[in-house]
Amino acid sequence: MTDMKEQIEGLLALDTVDRRLLELEKTRRAFPAEREEAEGAFRKAAAEHGAVEEELRRSFLARRAGEAEVDKNTEAIGRLNVQLNLVKTQREYDALRTEMAALRERNDRLADDVFAEMDRAEALEKRKAELARDRAELEETARRVAAEVEKKIGACEEEIAHAREERAAAAALVEPALLARYERIRSGKEGMALAEAGSGACGLCYRSIPPQRLIEIRSRKSLLACEGCGRILVAR
Ligand SMILES: [Zn+2]
Repeated sequence: MTDMKEQIEGLLALDTVDRRLLELEKTRRAFPAEREEAEGAFRKAAAEHGAVEEELRRSFLARRAGEAEVDKNTEAIGRLNVQLNLVKTQREYDALRTEMAALRERNDRLADDVFAEMDRAEALEKRKAELARDRAELEETARRVAAEVEKKIGACEEEIAHAREERAAAAALVEPALLARYERIRSGKEGMALAEAGSGACGLCYRSIPPQRLIEIRSRKSLLACEGCGRILVAR
């Protein structure tokens, strides 16, 4: 068996590059979210713009329906006015006058509605113009972010590839049995097989380490596992 101190140095080198790899992979995974956030903001503005357009369309239809009804009622009032000259009885005359008054009243209300609809459409047009500007800006931002993220992903993946090469070199210096133990712990412990013991407690699960064991760990004559998490304890 090669020197235990050398093996521990080998494990420490491996652990260093593995931790860097963990960080790099975490960074790599976060990039799509950055891109999606920018895309989401653009999609939201586009949807809002579409909703305002739809509301404007409905406002226009409501106004047109109101105006058409006003025209129809005005024509009806004209016809009733002609009939007024032809009626024979006071009762018929009164009935026609009542009908005409009702139509005029209805037209007054309709005219109010049409004006209100015009005001609403004016406000909606303003909002639509604002949203069109927002949408254009956010689309540009999303495009820029996507290009930046793509570049960052490329750089990050290059770093990952480089770190994996370093890892292979570091792993080659560790004895196979020890390497197997290291990998076994690592796969079950969120990617970290070594824990710092220097302060008298496990650096990852915080289980305290009896002084006698701490002396052994510091001497680097043997490998001790943490009684809490099972990781190999090292003093750097
Ligand atoms: Zn521990």
